[in-house]
Amino acid sequence: MENISKLEERLEQSRKQRKILKHELGAGKSCLSCKEKCVGGLNLHFWRKICINCKCPKSNHDLLPEDYDDESHIFEVLGVKIPDHKNLYKYIHKNPTTHVPLDEKKEVEWIPIVSEKDHAKRNEKINKYFEELGEKQIPFKNSDASKNRKIQSTMQLPPHDFNPEKCDNLSEIEASKLKHYVDNIKNNYFGQGQVDVVENTSVNPFLLTKTNLNVVNNNEVVGEMLQKLNIGKKELLCKGCDQHITGAFVKAERLGKDAQWHPKCFKCKSCSQLLVDLIYFHYNNDIYCARDLAAMMDIPRCAACDELILVSEFTLADNKNYHLKHFCCGNCDKTLAGFKYINDEKTNNPVCLSCYDLIYANKCSICMEIIAPNEEGLSFKEIHYHLKCFNCSNKECNKKLIGSRFCIKTDIPFCSANCVNSVNMTN
Ligand code: ZN
Ligand code: ZN
Ligand code: ZN
Repeated sequence: MENISKLEERLEQSRKQRKILKHELGAGKSCLSCKEKCVGGLNLHFWRKICINCKCPKSNHDLLPEDYDDESHIFEVLGVKIPDHKNLYKYIHKNPTTHVPLDEKKEVEWIPIVSEKDHAKRNEKINKYFEELGEKQIPFKNSDASKNRKIQSTMQLPPHDFNPEKCDNLSEIEASKLKHYVDNIKNNYFGQGQVDVVENTSVNPFLLTKTNLNVVNNNEVVGEMLQKLNIGKKELLCKGCDQHITGAFVKAERLGKDAQWHPKCFKCKSCSQLLVDLIYFHYNNDIYCARDLAAMMDIPRCAACDELILVSEFTLADNKNYHLKHFCCGNCDKTLAGFKYINDEKTNNPVCLSCYDLIYANKCSICMEIIAPNEEGLSFKEIHYHLKCFNCSNKECNKKLIGSRFCIKTDIPFCSANCVNSVNMTN
């Protein structure tokens, strides 16, 4: 007896010591969208990137920062500076009108790049940027905004778009195509916005009058003077909203020197999300997230595994693209190629007919068999019948009820009160 319990103890120990696979990050965390319906919590499907239990994406679950995929790989690939988590920037919270500090400095998990050597000025610009971005968007440590940053980052920069190891068994050709794709977007499309602030030069209105400008007839001098006053420059217009920029703004040099946005307007043209960490990809003179860039480039994405499809052969079904190997039942993963399937409206996945029956089909209240999708049936509220079964339940009558009067007693249909009574009597 003792030996067996020792053995069990050892087994338990080895189970505990087992290395946690990437796949298990966040395992068991409850789903925020389907709550208790996600029985057992997050159980990541091996390649679908959704929870097996509730079919929701991983990010819908109540994750801790360490449960997310490490984004440092993507940052390394793109050459983006990885935020220094040990030495976080401290933001001074100020009243927006009085500029009086409101509380003690709060740590921020990410700060934008600012081209400013002077330390104090640099911090001023960062603060101005955050102020204009709005309180709710500032990624304070452990805040909703910092959680959101993680969620949006996995959405906008899908880890599997950058790392073959995050994909489901790529062939050598696919892996090399992915590498080529990453090199291409990095070198030709990628950029990271930089923050600056419009200098607030107070202009003496006297100097602006025409007569005064006319006094100086040397054009160069006028130019120099105007530049000093910061008025010779074109007014800064936001590329997002076309309105004037008077404070902080984001520059995206990939789109030219005159491309700038309000902090709140630096969004992906397709999904309208604020671009995480100001990482953008330019395309046709607009800015996009990596996910939408791939769509703009017409690279199909598999609706089942969410990875880019890097081979010429793939399945198109209901306007969605699938890897050949991933066109399978959303419930049991059996291949659907050559089989009939139904679109599961809840999860928007195709499912095979037998799974559809299992999950959704109604049971006929008369014969207690499933009403298959290819069978005719009818329903009254929560009661369902095969059309072929919908006859008077008095066996001696057995009249077809469709199109005529009927009544329902304890889920069973009859043609008349007489038949109800005759059945009750024989009972
Ligand atoms: Zn879930
Ligand atoms: Zn987008
Ligand atoms: Zn796929």
